[in-house]
Amino acid sequence: MSILKNAIDSIAVGLEDYSSPDQRRVISCTRNVFAGILLLFKYKLSILSSPGSDEALIKQRVLPVLDEGDRLEWKGKGTKTVDVQGIKERFESLNIDVDWKRIEKINNFRNDIEHYFSNLKHEAIRSLISDSFVIINDFIRKHLDEDPKALLGDGAWAVLIEVNEVYEREKDECTTALQSLSFFDGEILAAFDGYSCDECGSGLIMPSVREGEATDANYICKSCGKILPYEDMVRGAVSDRYSYEMYLSHTDGGDSPLADCPECSGIYLYAQSICATCGHTAEHECQRCGSTIRPEELSDESFCGYCSYVMSKDD
Ligand SMILES: [Zn+2]
Ligand SMILES: [Zn+2]
Ligand SMILES: [Zn+2]
Repeated sequence: MSILKNAIDSIAVGLEDYSSPDQRRVISCTRNVFAGILLLFKYKLSILSSPGSDEALIKQRVLPVLDEGDRLEWKGKGTKTVDVQGIKERFESLNIDVDWKRIEKINNFRNDIEHYFSNLKHEAIRSLISDSFVIINDFIRKHLDEDPKALLGDGAWAVLIEVNEVYEREKDECTTALQSLSFFDGEILAAFDGYSCDECGSGLIMPSVREGEATDANYICKSCGKILPYEDMVRGAVSDRYSYEMYLSHTDGGDSPLADCPECSGIYLYAQSICATCGHTAEHECQRCGSTIRPEELSDESFCGYCSYVMSKDD
């Protein structure tokens, strides 16, 4: 019971911080809400741990022991509990689905809060509260089988609902405005829509024009007012959208989803065969041997790395 109570208290205190006019409490708001979410997750792991296992599933160290009947059991050791990565691994292994992309967004915001702070307006944490609402509501209903309103209390619940509604309305306006523009590819629109301002963390980004070419617009953060021209916006948004795939291609080998555009050195979407910056489509098939040109070998010469090498020797 105590983990659940701590989780609920932490979320409630975070929402009180949010409702306070004192700007300095923005930091404790983000910390408390995030800590509350992690405690909800740990509560789930604690109720799934077998009785007498010392809550094995929430402990960082779990060791095998033999019981009186010489049967193998796993017991939690020490006081250290699992971190975010540990919870993620255990949930995946137990088929407990959680929107980890959204958690990562909340966690990044929390980590960057000191950096954001000078630009932070109260509205900026609306996106964090709104994301937290989605996670909390979903998790309590689906995985704890409880009514979130009853669990959190009417006051906290009302704050969550209201913040979420206001944020969703503003987010919808931004999305509609972005959708009115023409993009080189739908992936770029999706990247813009999913982008959070690197100054303040807000997800409310508005284009300066409607119905035109996306490349002609500037992009304005509605929370802190930062303005980005298309070239800067596209680089930030597309690399954010593909950060996980880029990471995988570095660690597991495999092709990078992004390349340098041979035409403008902008950001090139390899699978979509188009430069997100300038709209250029490079030749993906080697004109000498017919093999596929790999992302890092794209050039304006239309040959694979091997053929370019052989031909440079023939010269
Ligand atoms: Zn901003
Ligand atoms: Zn280009
Ligand atoms: Zn070739």
